[in-house]
Amino acid sequence: MSLPTLDRGTDLLAFDREHLWHPYTSMTDPAPVRLVTGAEGVRLWLADRDGVSTSPTSGVPVIDAMSSWWSAIHGYRVPELDAALADQAGRMAHVMFGGLTHSPAIELAERLVSITPEPLQHVFLADSGSVSVEVAIKMALQSQRGRGRPERTRLLSLRGGYHGDTFGCMSVCDPVGGMHTMFADVLAQQVFADRPPAPGGDVETWAEGVRRVVAAHAHELAGIVVEPRLQGAGGMWVYDDRCLVVLREIADEHGLVLIFDEIATGLGRTGSLFVSSQVTPDILCIGKALTGGYLTLAAALTTSEVAHSISRSESGVLMHGPTFMGNPLACAVALASLDLLAARGWEQDVARVSAGLAAGLAPLAGAPGIEDVRILGAVGVVQLDRPVDVVRATDAALREGVWIRPFRNLIYTMPPYVTSDADLALICRAVAAAAEVG
Ligand SMILES: *Cc1c(COP(=O)(O)O)cnc(C)c1O
Repeated sequence: MSLPTLDRGTDLLAFDREHLWHPYTSMTDPAPVRLVTGAEGVRLWLADRDGVSTSPTSGVPVIDAMSSWWSAIHGYRVPELDAALADQAGRMAHVMFGGLTHSPAIELAERLVSITPEPLQHVFLADSGSVSVEVAIKMALQSQRGRGRPERTRLLSLRGGYHGDTFGCMSVCDPVGGMHTMFADVLAQQVFADRPPAPGGDVETWAEGVRRVVAAHAHELAGIVVEPRLQGAGGMWVYDDRCLVVLREIADEHGLVLIFDEIATGLGRTGSLFVSSQVTPDILCIGKALTGGYLTLAAALTTSEVAHSISRSESGVLMHGPTFMGNPLACAVALASLDLLAARGWEQDVARVSAGLAAGLAPLAGAPGIEDVRILGAVGVVQLDRPVDVVRATDAALREGVWIRPFRNLIYTMPPYVTSDADLALICRAVAAAAEVG
């Protein structure tokens, strides 16, 4: 069989259109994609409009205002991360984690235990965010079995939440905005409480509602799963940390395992290294920015209490073990990324990005067609009063030299922490342009 020679951008894009799925796209009516030829600093190099150029130096540079979906917090071609990756590749790219171990995984676990709240002492290294949530759910269920409560098999989740695309994750995503309708027959039936109110809202009334739901289902609930402080892909909803205090109390009262999904919010994005530093969960999921956007890696951390109760379940072991668990390349680059995060002073960076986004986006509040503008840490959200025309909005931002990826009625940005003030101003201009036409 002879394969087409893909030596020109146009051929590449034609093959892509015919054969490659992109996230949430159709094979028969694919949405347009653009060819990236390289990246450096906070910029991606896009091939020109015809997709012909494939040289990184002749591409069109655009600021990545999405950090490749929350992950590239230091930008691209980061010398420290490139070096860590090359160094580890020179030793060992991968080795199975069953029966074997290695210093990149051990040192990363040591670091994660030291930078997360003290009760979180035990680490499962998963190969993606969704897998870490699946593992967290398994931990909660096995923990209940170990405590002699095998009937506790359901989870409480919040409306507006997003926790990943695999089946366990889908079951705890928002049941309306998510994929529940199509998969209703195959998804685990979970219990949902209302979306928490926006900051300044009525936490007490919300808390009463959650207490009522939990009281009705406590006998069958294993745990609570929630994205603390900011619900991401379910709608970019911001809420008060007091709601987390309420969930902690409810979990303690009813013996539920409290899971914080900080896959998006973790590692400084919302202004705290982890929201979990304010309210401690029983299980914490970390992903996305963990390797600075270089490789796929996630972690689920838990307490000794949960770990020990899992060991008392009938299997005696935690029933999970992916092929690429604890991948040495990913662990090595994660360690380098955490070093860099600390060395650069992420707090100042995130505060600076936050101020830049506030300066540029807050003035949009109240403009025609704009329903809300919210800034939290290094995240800026412009909510329209209508669904975004993604193609028009994306084009408008690209004309300003910025890459964004709107969804639903949201045009939003979470730039790399290293984005300069001048580039932040460009991002805000692009978001405004997108909001106007999108
Ligand atoms: C992205 C995300 C996930 C899923 O992570 P993947 O690496 O895409 O599997 C889960 N939870 C939250 C909050 C996320 O933002």
